[in-house]
Amino acid sequence: MRLIKDVESLYIDFDAFFANVEKQLHPDIRDKPVGVTALDSEYSAFITRCYMAKAVGIKRGMRVRDARALCPDLIVRVARPDLYVDIHNKILDEIDRFVPVRKVSSIDEMECDLIGAERRDCVDLAKRIRAGLAQNIGPYVTPSIGLAANGFLAKVAAEMNKPNGLTVLDPKDMPGPILHLKLTDLPGISGNMEKRLNAAGVWSIEEFWNVSSKQARAIWGNIEGERLWAQLRGYEVVRPETQKRMFGHSRVLTQGWRTPDKALECLNLLTVKAAYRLRRAGYICRRLSVSFKLGDGSRFSGEADFLPCSDDRTLLKHMHIVFERGLETLGPKADLKSVYIMLHNISRPHTLSGDLFSETKESTEVRRWDRIMETMDGLNKKHGQAVLHVGSRANLPGGFAGGKIAFGRVPSKEDFF
Ligand SMILES: [Mg+2]
Repeated sequence: MRLIKDVESLYIDFDAFFANVEKQLHPDIRDKPVGVTALDSEYSAFITRCYMAKAVGIKRGMRVRDARALCPDLIVRVARPDLYVDIHNKILDEIDRFVPVRKVSSIDEMECDLIGAERRDCVDLAKRIRAGLAQNIGPYVTPSIGLAANGFLAKVAAEMNKPNGLTVLDPKDMPGPILHLKLTDLPGISGNMEKRLNAAGVWSIEEFWNVSSKQARAIWGNIEGERLWAQLRGYEVVRPETQKRMFGHSRVLTQGWRTPDKALECLNLLTVKAAYRLRRAGYICRRLSVSFKLGDGSRFSGEADFLPCSDDRTLLKHMHIVFERGLETLGPKADLKSVYIMLHNISRPHTLSGDLFSETKESTEVRRWDRIMETMDGLNKKHGQAVLHVGSRANLPGGFAGGKIAFGRVPSKEDFF
């Protein structure tokens, strides 16, 4: 394992994200305490509240009715997940202008690796990112930024001076600046894990710092303990995971398939193929793009952002919307030469804080479709063909839509369903 000597990681954690997005969009509530709930009900609980609301004692998880009793001029907003996802994607694009986002941890947290001069000029870089966000996303959607040896410590740093913080944990000063924190301030140490640490005689960060890696492993009962201990000490811990960036299919249309209706049928099939590959690889996506080329050489390309999902129905719905937008742009008699669908902004299901939306109608619907997809995929796999599918299904000339051997990808058996 490599002990990191420079600041190699930059972590961004947005402050009271949903509440501050609401303030950004509604100037009339900017100077008021704001809380955001999942449902429009006096019994619903707050999933986020702004710092002003926090200052008057409004807690996360508190019910609207109790909060109003405590603070009569509290502004209560119902979460708008689709809107937050849209802003999340814009934030990623903005940060990417300065440094590539390596990992999206949740809707309001992301991590970047620093290389070369970025490490030396990390504070300046963080300030430029902050200024870019203020200008292009809005000054009310504030980030807290942490800089440290690795992503773990950078996340800890980002939490240390909220809101609107910028905290550097310089490797050569460690562990001094974090010794005053609680064990549960470290990501990965829950209340239960704290009890186990206490039982092993570890009551503070300093005591945890001083155990051996073997002891850390023994306390956890698995390698996670050793990993966490090593990350705390500023080692580079590489987890075995390579992030795939996108799933997509394209198709050149033959004569008789170049009308909008036929092209859409083809896109339907390509979309469900891509969605199936996405699910089989265990991913969800938050954006899709549809492109097509016309006989006269002109092109259309459009995108849609949505809540993280992987089911056919939701993806088909968004694909249709983008496709229709394309036809409106290019005219109904469009002679389509080729079509292309791509699913991107890929992540593992558990890495996005979907739990924040667990009560919304939309996420219930997505979960319901997840179960339907599971049943459908299982049946199709068992029968070796698509015995069940969503919507109509065209038989394309030339056969299998998903079996094309793209550069860098060898199709597997199920691609030919
Ligand atoms: Mg946050």
